[in-house]
Amino acid sequence: MKVTEHIKNANGKTLFSFEIIPPKKGKSIQDLYDNIDPLMEFNPPFIDVTTSREEYIYIEKQGLLDRKITRMRPGTVGICAAIKHKYDVDTVPHVLCGGFSKEETEYLLVDCHYLGINNVMALRGDAMSHQKYFEACDGGHQYASQLVSQIQNLNCGTYLHDVVEVDDTSNFCIGVAGYPEKHIEAPSLHTDLKRLKEKVDAGADYVVTQMFFDNKKYFEFVDAAKKVGIDVPIIPGIKPIAIKKHLQLLPQVFKIDLPQDLITNIEQCQTNKQVRQVGIEWAIQQSKELQAAGVPVLHYYSMGKSDNVKAIAEAVF
Ligand SMILES: Cc1cc2nc3c(=O)[nH]c(=O)nc-3n(C[C@H](O)[C@H](O)[C@H](O)COP(=O)(O)OP(=O)(O)OC[C@H]3O[C@@H](n4cnc5c(N)ncnc54)[C@H](O)[C@@H]3O)c2cc1C
Repeated sequence: MKVTEHIKNANGKTLFSFEIIPPKKGKSIQDLYDNIDPLMEFNPPFIDVTTSREEYIYIEKQGLLDRKITRMRPGTVGICAAIKHKYDVDTVPHVLCGGFSKEETEYLLVDCHYLGINNVMALRGDAMSHQKYFEACDGGHQYASQLVSQIQNLNCGTYLHDVVEVDDTSNFCIGVAGYPEKHIEAPSLHTDLKRLKEKVDAGADYVVTQMFFDNKKYFEFVDAAKKVGIDVPIIPGIKPIAIKKHLQLLPQVFKIDLPQDLITNIEQCQTNKQVRQVGIEWAIQQSKELQAAGVPVLHYYSMGKSDNVKAIAEAVF
């Protein structure tokens, strides 16, 4: 079922969902299952699976460094299919512009359609680690809005190059990213919102936000989005802080602000176990307020470990 259908069928009740990351190459999928199992009692209607960008690695060969390209966490679509099969839950693969040509994206979407996966999250992806700015690969998209258009075209039976006789079209429900504190590269929040509107106009059905720690930012974002004509569901993304280093890491990587009270509480912690507890309590507080405000879904960034998300879900759902 589509994410938007799940939301509609919930009749205003806030749903629970979460995002996982594929295991590192060579690692078993069992660890993922062990972390999904405890969360299934909260009936997630869908689970997101991220896609990691490719990266360069350097292999020494006869005194010279040979540059190879690799993806450290491959398998997004396979994992989506495996989870869907094992838990009978909808899965949402993240589809990136970065590192994929339009043709590769078309084949990936065809795979998803055959597997009965009918939700996708369309994202641009970040620049590769050696790049200052994002660059589309040869034959790839520069912006997520173009990827949304490609997915919508496929939903209408329009393939990239081939004129084919179509009797079975896909019907993907498309999610896109939104940034309550604006995307790092956007010159202003208003400009970023206009870009978000372009994604919705291209066919996006819902938005999932970047993590935020002050609900006011989310509420203001939703109001501002409505003012520019964005009328699709905006799902808040919640990340429980788990380690002290997140105080530096999260603002640096995601260009987000942390509230002073949260910073003070974390600074007082002696161990990361205590930090994890503070992160859980903060996320519970955030979640309860968002739930009371009637958000459609509370979507948690689990980062592969579910104990803290389970503790939050127990308190909220
Ligand atoms: C919910 C969520 C899930 C994510 N999952 C993943 C994942 O699985 N894998 C991963 O690698 N990353 C993921 N990301 C990170 C995401 O890829 C990065 O934030 C990326 O930098 C931007 O992606 P986007 O889809 O928002 O890009 P876009 O919507 O294309 O926007 C990127 C920037 O370009 C600007 N822009 C857009 N259109 C135009 C235009 N026509 N002209 C000029 N400027 C324009 C926007 O304002 C913005 O600053 C996720 C982010 C979120 C919020």
